[in-house]
Amino acid sequence: MRAPAYHGVVVPVSRPRVTLRFNERDLPPYYTQEKPHRGVDLSPFPGATGDPVRSPVNGTVVLVGFHLAAGNELVIRSSLPYPYTATALDGVVYEVAAHQPFWLRLAHNHEVYPKAGEQVAAGEVVARIGATGRNVTGPHLHFELRINQYENGLVLDPLDFLSACVVGFKQTVVYTGDSRV
Ligand SMILES: [Zn+2]
Repeated sequence: MRAPAYHGVVVPVSRPRVTLRFNERDLPPYYTQEKPHRGVDLSPFPGATGDPVRSPVNGTVVLVGFHLAAGNELVIRSSLPYPYTATALDGVVYEVAAHQPFWLRLAHNHEVYPKAGEQVAAGEVVARIGATGRNVTGPHLHFELRINQYENGLVLDPLDFLSACVVGFKQTVVYTGDSRV
């Protein structure tokens, strides 16, 4: 049983450009005021289908499947031994407590490697960048963070999570806004 004493968080795609931010609403036509973007879209630079998607954390794969909108998706449950804060869709900043479980959703993958129930390690290649799912305009990773539970859990800004947990991320991440969904 793997139990690495490593609590670092890894950015899931290399040299990411943020092509769509959390809670963005200025989107045709499938996102509306009632349905903001619930994650962040990360595109590797230069970026292509097949680029590696790395597990951001040590955790347990709780779901692997095909979702009509999200395409080939992977959900990882984990926790960290330190607290961090992240903003919800209503603008409220939540503190996620040390050891509080959270779920990371990795969507639109070209392919996914682990199966539900398996353990994954931070940095492990768990999928390949793709454009599967509905209304996807180019290869990217849709990355979500949820707390409390997975289904109907509270979604938080994954960029806050990466900024809090990955040294140097906030200073280097680039927003381009050049892709949708
Ligand atoms: Zn997205």
